[in-house]
Amino acid sequence: LDHGTERILDTYLDFYRDRGHRVLPGGTLIPPPGDPVLFTTSGVHPLVRHLETGHHPLGGRLVNVQRCLRTTDLDEVGDDRHYTLFEMLGSWSFGDYSHEQSLRWGYELLTDGFGLSPDRLYVTVFGGTGELGPDEESRRTWTELGVPVELEGENWWSLGETGPCGPDSEIHVWTGDGPPTGTPGTEPRWMELWNHVEMRYRRLPDGSLEPLPRRVVDTGMGLERLVTLLSGVRTGYDTDLFLPWLSTARRLWGVHGRTERVVSDHLRSVVALLGDGVRPGPTGRGYVPRRLIRRVLTRLWRDDDTHSLSELPDELLTDTLRHFRQPLDTPVREVLLDEQRRFGELVRRGRRVLGRYRGRPLGDDDLRYLHDTHGLPPEVVTDLYEEVS
Ligand code: ATP
Ligand code: MG
Ligand code: MG
Ligand code: MG
Repeated sequence: LDHGTERILDTYLDFYRDRGHRVLPGGTLIPPPGDPVLFTTSGVHPLVRHLETGHHPLGGRLVNVQRCLRTTDLDEVGDDRHYTLFEMLGSWSFGDYSHEQSLRWGYELLTDGFGLSPDRLYVTVFGGTGELGPDEESRRTWTELGVPVELEGENWWSLGETGPCGPDSEIHVWTGDGPPTGTPGTEPRWMELWNHVEMRYRRLPDGSLEPLPRRVVDTGMGLERLVTLLSGVRTGYDTDLFLPWLSTARRLWGVHGRTERVVSDHLRSVVALLGDGVRPGPTGRGYVPRRLIRRVLTRLWRDDDTHSLSELPDELLTDTLRHFRQPLDTPVREVLLDEQRRFGELVRRGRRVLGRYRGRPLGDDDLRYLHDTHGLPPEVVTDLYEEVS
């Protein structure tokens, strides 16, 4: 599936291994028990309970590859750089080396390690707020490295309302054809690639900041974005990570443009969710694969309601599970077909019921009635309503 990607992963892990980092196995998409968030959303997510103490039981220098899922990015999916499911390359110093060291290594890996031209880099660092001044230390480091640097008030990471927090440096890479112009804030051809956070403080319930006894450096870089840059293409959909999905979707269902992207993104995400043991259901975690499958089917059936997920080749499903190192006997096909059958029934019922609503606006009361009486979820109703109107 992905020789290019495997080589890039090796280069990344070797770089940090050579600098004394221990490789943590990447975890599943399911956060530890008691975590209020449905899915793992970043590499640091599984490590948060160690941030306050600054001690990690496996050592001060860690590195890993962690799959992440952000339902908050769903509306952006279909653009060149946001995916529902993506992999984050993470590195950490728990009370060991400095933020400056992390930035210098980051620069070295991108330029010497991966061969990106330094001219294509642009960095934003914490610009200060009322309570704190700008992150002069990081600004000086980037200036010494010869990278353009801009102060940006929003470059501040925090775990929540209280707890560990600190400034971050965001590394952006130029993706345009000509020489770089503008800045990441105003020019979309700059793509954010890598974030280097240093947790320097703890926010207390009274709102004040207290220095952390042991600082933690936390970095995260999107693998799909890195592979995009190193493959010299415009989007992850043109890399070995997504191409097998795109070519299958085109061949089976004749989709193109944003639809082929959304369909590929969502189905790939569903396979990984199933591989991590999530099963579709009406609420919570289980509703995410259900919703993703429904979004796919809604798009496919718009053109032709005989399109079926049963046409997906076994090899693609298995290769995807293998990529994420998940059990190959995951019943992906069975689950997809079961969901497809359920949704098909729902859509048929919905079309019948919604026919009566043609030509008049749907209010909240209607949505509630359709849900309670006919079992039609609001987002399904809204899609079907557009169709019948
Ligand atoms: P963006 O501003 O592009 O939405 P972000 O600031 O939300 O990214 P971070 O939370 O800083 O992202 O995550 C660290 C890195 O993970 C990003 O720099 C990017 O490379 C990658 N990343 C974040 N969200 C996505 C996504 N939805 N798809 C692919 N990669 C992502
Ligand atoms: Mg984002
Ligand atoms: Mg960002
Ligand atoms: Mg960021």
